Amino acid sequence: MAKLLLSVVIAVGVLLTSSFNLNKSPNNETRKYKTEYVIVLIIDGPRFTETFGDTTYQYIPHLGNELKKEGVLLSNFRNNGPTYTISGHSAIITGRYHSISNAGKQLPKYPSMFQYYLKEKGVPKTDAWIISSKGKLEVLGNTNYKKWWNVYKPSTYCGLHGNGADYTGDQETFDKVTEVLSANNPPHLMLINLLAADSYAHSKQWDMYLKSIQKCDDYAFQLWNLIQSNERLKDKTALIVTNDHGRHLDGHKDGYISHGDNCEGCRHISLLAIGPDFKKNVESKNCSEQLDISKTIAEILHFSMPTGKGRVLTELFE
Ligand SMILES: [Zn+2]
Ligand SMILES: [Zn+2]
Repeated sequence: MAKLLLSVVIAVGVLLTSSFNLNKSPNNETRKYKTEYVIVLIIDGPRFTETFGDTTYQYIPHLGNELKKEGVLLSNFRNNGPTYTISGHSAIITGRYHSISNAGKQLPKYPSMFQYYLKEKGVPKTDAWIISSKGKLEVLGNTNYKKWWNVYKPSTYCGLHGNGADYTGDQETFDKVTEVLSANNPPHLMLINLLAADSYAHSKQWDMYLKSIQKCDDYAFQLWNLIQSNERLKDKTALIVTNDHGRHLDGHKDGYISHGDNCEGCRHISLLAIGPDFKKNVESKNCSEQLDISKTIAEILHFSMPTGKGRVLTELFE
């Protein structure tokens, strides 16, 4: 009996060892990336029909021309969860769709890429930043998920003078971005929210909505130039330009003025990724969605996001 038990133990041991060796095979080695810094720029609420869906790129001349040539455009990119500001941003940073108060009264239900990053790397909170025109997005810096509440929180500057409540103009937000990126040790992970397009659409000002998309296009271009003229960031930074949600299609409810349901206008958004590890001048129509963003960033910066869903956007990489 003892002899039988011993041989069973040995057999299990051999099995375990061989599977362990399998895991260490060269195929499973982690890939090394040139990218060390990742910036996610979220242009709040433009419709695809006014951005990459209009191939004259009249409202996004920089993104549609110079910047598109530098990277990969995912033109079938979607918000497949609730199409509101906070839930869209939460899906991007947590890799999970969930309904959450859009007034900033609830924390995301899952830990974010910022928290996983800060914990795994053991770096100070100044290495991960959220800078937002909408003060209510301050909630993105925390979660009510068990054991992750109030820990590994990123640095935040949201709303008027960073007060975490009111809204501020995108210029103040962009000034803060410039200040933080120009510091001696720029953060390795940053998320930016620009609100103007969404705000003017809600206030039913079509012309200002279009002008604001153009202004955001300009900020995206300025940001890329800022990165390329910064010795630390140059050729080591990935810029991901995307949206939290779209807006209703014309003829559906109140059209461009609102958003929040599952119409094509609200769901269909875009993602442009530029960086040293990404292909250039490529458009992909693969199905891709907001959940995939944090998964992809975790792959590039080498940290794990066990609560995140989605897939690594392999079509971006060379
Ligand atoms: Zn809105
Ligand atoms: Zn809609």
